[in-house]
Amino acid sequence: MSQRRPLIAGNWKMNKTLDESVAFAKELVEAVGSTPDVDVVIAPTTVTLHAVSQVIADSPIQLSAQNVHPQPSGAYTGEVSPAMLKAVGCTYAIVGHSERRQYFEESDAFIREKSDALRAEGVLPIVCIGESLEEREGGQTFSRVEAQLKAALEGLSAEEAKTLTIAYEPIWAIGTGKTATPAQAQEVHHFLRQQIATLVDQDTANSVRLLYGGSVKPSNVVALMQEDDIDGALVGGASLKVDSFRQLVHFQS
Ligand code: PEP
Repeated sequence: MSQRRPLIAGNWKMNKTLDESVAFAKELVEAVGSTPDVDVVIAPTTVTLHAVSQVIADSPIQLSAQNVHPQPSGAYTGEVSPAMLKAVGCTYAIVGHSERRQYFEESDAFIREKSDALRAEGVLPIVCIGESLEEREGGQTFSRVEAQLKAALEGLSAEEAKTLTIAYEPIWAIGTGKTATPAQAQEVHHFLRQQIATLVDQDTANSVRLLYGGSVKPSNVVALMQEDDIDGALVGGASLKVDSFRQLVHFQS
């Protein structure tokens, strides 16, 4: 396990209505307790962020958005700005999730704009990167994640780069029940950390948290977290049930 404080983040995606989200957040506050051994983040839908923020206000659980628009305001129908997320209590925002890259054709450059705009507002970006099955089978895993990481980091100062959390999510493992083996995930995480050292510096590489995402569940979290360069998990399906999220957060006990 790494020297960095683990972070377990639940991405609720497009699930749970307002009432369901509030009720679920209340259960999570109980399940997580007051002194978890890890940082705990939940990412509800945009329309429930404000209500969930009030439920978790006195708990260690931190709030994340699932997406953001880089512009501060204006004619961007349906979008939400970094300042709006900050105002409802978001500490983090996920950007570049593969579902957004795939279904909404978001480019590396647009994701970088989002991440820069979040940082300017003091919201911490969780930048998702990862290869498709085709890319993995074609031997392009490392070149793919290298390009995505470079787009996220190039030109940032060490101080700026340290505001990022990187989530390595192989697309073939998201929502499919197929998890990368701990060794497969570690291999990519180790590579990413080396790349951060090259693109920024070693101190930044040592401090940036690298999350793994892709069918993480209570039965595989311990083995994944034992790897040196895996600092936490970004979890979809298993974050939607109190019992499984509780086990993920308390994976050390
Ligand atoms: C995700 O949504 O980022 C994710 C990894 O989903 P799942 O855990 O369901 O694979």
